[in-house]
Amino acid sequence: MLPAALCVIAVAASVTAVTRHPLVLVISFDAFRHDYVRANMTPSMVRLRAASASPPYMKSVFPTKTFVNHFTMATGLYAETHGVLDNYMFNRSHGLIHYTYEQFHYDNTVVPLWVENENYGDGRHSGVMMWPGSDFEYQGKLSTYVQKYNRSMPWNDRVDKIMSWIKDDNKPANLVFAYFEEPDRTCHSVGVESQETINQIVKADVTVKYLLDQIKCENLEKKLNLIILSDHGMESITYDHIIFLESYASNMTYKMIVTGPNAFVYPNPGKFDEVYANFTKAAESGTFNVYKQDQIPERWHFKNSPRLKGLIYLLAEPSYMFWYDILNITAKDEFKVGTHGYDNANERMNTIFMASGPAFKSNYTAEPFESVDVYPLLSHVAGLKTPGTAGARPCNGTMDTVRHMLRQDAPSAAVRPPSRRRSQGVWAAVLLHAAVATVTRCL
Ligand SMILES: [Zn+2]
Repeated sequence: MLPAALCVIAVAASVTAVTRHPLVLVISFDAFRHDYVRANMTPSMVRLRAASASPPYMKSVFPTKTFVNHFTMATGLYAETHGVLDNYMFNRSHGLIHYTYEQFHYDNTVVPLWVENENYGDGRHSGVMMWPGSDFEYQGKLSTYVQKYNRSMPWNDRVDKIMSWIKDDNKPANLVFAYFEEPDRTCHSVGVESQETINQIVKADVTVKYLLDQIKCENLEKKLNLIILSDHGMESITYDHIIFLESYASNMTYKMIVTGPNAFVYPNPGKFDEVYANFTKAAESGTFNVYKQDQIPERWHFKNSPRLKGLIYLLAEPSYMFWYDILNITAKDEFKVGTHGYDNANERMNTIFMASGPAFKSNYTAEPFESVDVYPLLSHVAGLKTPGTAGARPCNGTMDTVRHMLRQDAPSAAVRPPSRRRSQGVWAAVLLHAAVATVTRCL
């Protein structure tokens, strides 16, 4: 290991060969709630956010679930259009699907941005690291670089692999999407406030620091646009807020898929009205809501999916969640889990977004926007056709809510006051606190 100072001297003599196109790297930490960015847990993210273009939070699309929001950010489409309605859902024949080609291909005209980028040709190459949906072909195409989901792969190794894609001599990636499964995975088991969850939040911050070191080390600060974001927030659930659905309607009258606070119910032939009536009566408890397809709120952009035909949809109220059967546990007072999927108007479902690099303003507080607007922003910054302009693919997102974060559009309002600015720029500001860090990868 060599001190950072030596690293800087070494890179001064070497220039990393990278794409001649705009370079965009998107990093997602699953279920990183907007209020996890705190000085005592995530010092690197605090510094990065302060130096970036960043809203106080980003709003998820409904349902506030992993596959839904990651596919929304990749396609610019709401769930009712891209067809991924949840992590677990019914297929056409009412069988369970979970992370299958079929789940991500209800409509074959839906193509994620990493494939669009490849289609532009001219030396453009995409890399996808474990991003939900990224290891399936779309219209017969994959990214140039694909790392399938592999939880055992150390996080620093993932960063190293991403950098190797960007630095590849023959096929340098110009657009990379990378997914990290925490703090979501741990938090589901132990809740938001547990030390185990905090440890994963800290781990994400340490990984951001490592990534920033690599970017600095490779002399890519003025080339690379880095977007750090997440898909949704998280809520803690105690035992007294568990809803045992089977106690309300005989499970002989329907098939059901429960995913935290969300449930798809497929009544048996001739049983729709009976099942709907039973769950509607149960919902008088005030802990959840019951919807026929045409009763689902328009604002969720969910109801018009053909995949909901013939189903009843249930959504728990905040801090409640469904459970299939009776929990056989003794320590009910100590029971605590984490979940998400609620109404996207619930502020605990809000998540993070911070963008830095040559395309973005520094030290800029943006207005909050929805995750569906990430796609047009990425299209624009990557130099692809921007939705809303001639020849671009239609999408549900808009540049109107995100354009003001771009450097060239720079109006005056909402720029942070001088006291919060850092004259050294984004990367220098973030790296300053760790001048003694050791980095060897670029040597
Ligand atoms: Zn998630």
